[in-house]
Order: sequence, then C-alpha cells, then structure tokens
Amino acid sequence: MHGLMMNSPLTITSIMKHADRNHPDSEIVSVTVDNPRHRYTYREAFIRTRKLACALSQYGIKPDDRIGTLAWNDYRHFELYYAVSGVGAITHMINPRLSHDQITFIINHAEDRLIFVDPLIVPVLEKIIDAIKNVELFVILTDMAHMPETSLVNVRCYESFIGDGAEDFEWPEFDENTASSLCYTSGTTGNPKGVLYSHRAIVLHSLAEIAPDVFNLSIREVIMPVVPMFHVNAWGIPYAAPIVGAKLVFPGAKMGDGETLQALIEEEGVTLSAGVPTVWLMLLNYLEKSAKTVASLRRVIIGGAACPLSILIDFREKYDVTVHQAWGMTEMTPLGTVNTLKPGMENIPADELNQLKLKQGRFVYGVEMKIIDDDNKEQPWDGLSPGLLKVRGPWISSNYYKKEDDDDTFDKDGWFSTGDIATIDENGFMQITDRSKDVIKSGGEWISSIELENIATGHPTISEAAVIGINHPKWSERPLLIVVLKENEEVGKEELLAWMAGKVPKWWLPDDVLFVDEIPHTATGKIQKTKLRKLFKDYKFPSS
Ligand code: AMP
Repeated sequence: MHGLMMNSPLTITSIMKHADRNHPDSEIVSVTVDNPRHRYTYREAFIRTRKLACALSQYGIKPDDRIGTLAWNDYRHFELYYAVSGVGAITHMINPRLSHDQITFIINHAEDRLIFVDPLIVPVLEKIIDAIKNVELFVILTDMAHMPETSLVNVRCYESFIGDGAEDFEWPEFDENTASSLCYTSGTTGNPKGVLYSHRAIVLHSLAEIAPDVFNLSIREVIMPVVPMFHVNAWGIPYAAPIVGAKLVFPGAKMGDGETLQALIEEEGVTLSAGVPTVWLMLLNYLEKSAKTVASLRRVIIGGAACPLSILIDFREKYDVTVHQAWGMTEMTPLGTVNTLKPGMENIPADELNQLKLKQGRFVYGVEMKIIDDDNKEQPWDGLSPGLLKVRGPWISSNYYKKEDDDDTFDKDGWFSTGDIATIDENGFMQITDRSKDVIKSGGEWISSIELENIATGHPTISEAAVIGINHPKWSERPLLIVVLKENEEVGKEELLAWMAGKVPKWWLPDDVLFVDEIPHTATGKIQKTKLRKLFKDYKFPSS
C-alpha cells in the first residue's frame, strides 16, 4: 500500500519559489568585474532568474541541453544555477583553472550549446576556440558598458540577453529525477569525468546540509562561500541558503585575496564561511600582517583537503572562530561528513580534542559508508583499522556521464569507491589516512601524477618516473618527482623542469626532483605509491 501523501517533485525550482515567497528581502552581495559591491535581494534575483529562463527558452534551449558556465562566485552565476536547471536544461559548471586541453575536452564531451563566461575568463576561450565543437553562442557575464574586446564570434552581453526575457515566466514542471547540473572531476585518472546531478539529489543534499549537526544554517546567518561555484556547486551553499533565507556574500574572482575576504566579512557581517585550507591560510596571513579582525565571523567550514592544526588553533585562539572540517567529493554533491562534536566531547582534554577535530567527521544522514580491506572485507569501526572508503546514498553518483570505459569505481551492490583510505572510530568519526587514487591536491585543485610521470619519462635521459604528493604548508600538497636515470645519462633538476614547463599548466610543475637508483614496484609491476609515500613521509621541499 502506498502512503497517501502528495507526490510534489523535489526540484530546484521549488527552492526558488520558496525563497521568493518567504525570504524576498534577504540579500545577495557580490564582487564582480563591473561592480565591486553589487547588492540586491532574493526577490530581485528571482525576477532576473525568470527573465533569464524566458530568454533561454526564446533562444531555443530545450530540456536536457547543456549550458556551460565559466564563471566566479557572483549573482549572475547564481541566476544561471536556477534559470538553466529551472527550464529543465543542465547547468554545466566548468573549472577555468584546468588545463586548456581539459577545458576543451570537457566542453566537447558535454556538447555545451551556450557558454556563459566571465569577462576575466574570455581569454581562455579565445585560446581554445578552434578546438571547441558545439558552442553556438558565448554570453559574457557583464553589462554593455563593460563588454571586453574579444576575438570570439557569436558573442552577446549577459545584461542584453536577459533583457529579452519576461518577468512572468512560468516554470515548467518535471520529474524530480531530471538532470539539473553537471560538473567534471579531474580527481581520477584519465580524462575528466562528468558527474550529472539530479534535482532530487540537490534538494535532498540541501535539506541535509542545513541541519544543526551539519552546517547548521538559518536565516540569521550571513554566508560567504569561498569554495568556487564551479567546484561541486560551491558545496551546495547556493541551494541551501535560499531554503533558510540566509544572506549570501559572493567574493567573485577575489577568492584567494585576504584583503577582499576580510573587507567582505567585516562590512557585510559574514558569520559563516566555507573553503579549502589554502584560502584560510591566505586570510590568516593577511589578518596577522594587517592587524585587522573578523569580528562577525563565528564558524568556518574547511574541506577539500585535510585541515592543518595551525589553522584550527589560529582561528580559535586569535579570532574566536570555530573550525569544522568537512569531507566530500564531486561525485557526492559533495557532502559526506562534517566534524561536529557529540555531547560531552567539548570537555575532553585540549590536545585530544584537537586531534579529534582534525578528523574528517561524522557521516551525514543520507550517506552510508563502509571501509574495506583488499579482500573486500569490511573493517571494524575502531579508529585503527584503515580501509578503502566506499559510500552510497541518494546524492551520490551511480555512474559518470557518457562513461565509455568500465572500471570498478561503481560496484554491483551500488557502492561508490571514493579512492580515499580511512579509519572510522567508535563514535563514527571518519579520518582519511591515505589515498589510493593517483592524483595530488594542490590548493584544492587536482594534479595528475600519471600525466607528470608520462611527460617526465618522455625525456631522453629518464628511465622511470614517479610523482607523489608531499604535504605543503600553503598548498596542502605539492608534487615531488622521483626519477631513475638511464644508464650513463645525466640531467640536472633545473634542466628537467625547464623541459617539462609548457607541457602542463605552470602550477602542476613538481616543486622538486629527486634522483634515485630504484623505484619500488608491486608484484604486478606497478609503481608502489604507498611505499614511496612512506619512504618520503618526512621529506620537506627546499623552499617550504
Ligand atoms: P573533489 O571531488 O575535487 O571535491 O575532491 C574530493 C577528494 O578531495 C576526496 O576524495 C579526498 O581525497 C579529498 N578531500 C576532500 N575533503 C577532504 C578533507 N577534509 N580532508 C582530506 N581530504 C579531503
């Protein structure tokens, strides 16, 4: 027997309608190229969103069409989030920090029809335009007065595009399992892989996120997401905030700039922010140097990479800000765990509490998890036994978009293999101890070790190369290149790095090169990265 409840679809449109009706006066403040402090209300945001949706429909955008965005965190990107998904099309957020080859691959693979691009990112498209296949129109995210000169053809200005639309656009209704948005992850081997979100997943994830022991969101918060909107939906904040009516503050392209972040926090009364450790290091350095404060800030959510103890302590002791570590993945919309304490834990000794707070946290309702050993045997939750972390739940990918090759990432029982190695303690706190995937995370962005190894072994003097991530105080991790030379060959570190430059984005280049006699291998002949990481666990880069 079915229950007798209404079957209202859980769509992103329902979030927008709710916020429009219930929180019309909540503010959204943004930094953009054309306005250092743009300010409007949810009411105005959703009027413009309807105009944009209408303009998209008039242009001929149909359900399931992919619409690319190459944009920073601001109100126009927010409008695109809602308008594109609201007409039944798919908002495809593209990471402008990827290599030009990866961006080209992603745009062609997604078959984007339109791309909405920030003026600051137009030069990236100009460089790859000849390799882009399906894009019919580029819409530059600015007004007529600030349109940049560009060699792109078929270009329109966002404000004139939106001006074609009507305010009274009626949102179409559709099934909650309809695809809403698309984000590619380069945190795997091979080409970037597309994670296709659904309306239902986004709504359920948003509801989970606002809960007290998760992000604890309410209309009393002023939230500044410093995690980019092209990175897993800015951790879901642009969807969760309108549910509760929280004020939103978007820092635009200035996400790595301590001065801008401090000014926004102080002047807009930001109470809660979220981002990767590198961003907070920059802010803390700026506060230290400038002797400025962040009086309104109460909580910071840190994820994307392990949070160093120094950040946790500096925030707490110098600025009275509580840090909560969170863990998730692009494939998980992204939320998996958040480190919030259980009753009584506040009173445990300070050192122990610090160690507890460095764990990635407790699982959010909706995310099931297990850790398994090499024989697929589940490991106990004793805080000691590490295993490969697998997850499943309604906002976790069941497959990659247009996946061509078969792998064991998604198993037949519906579990997704995260590639992270973790322990889970008796209280359910998960802690990442290692990574089985062959990628390095620097400043919240992925570097492919395999690609670096392939390039290095292309050098005539190199017989074998391995790249591992080494802890770095500013970037979380940086690549270390370990090479074995061919017999009777020689090459200097600088010479090798100069030769590699230009073949990968500059920020991918290894911070150091070590010449060794031998690289350890597994029984099947693969480079044994776990052993290498152990061997070099105390290694420090010359400059760090
Ligand atoms: P992404 O899909 O780019 O969001 O990257 C997800 C991956 O980042 C995870 O599988 C982890 O390897 C890493 N990661 C995310 N959050 C954390 C964290 N709090 N601590 C350590 N690693 C993290």
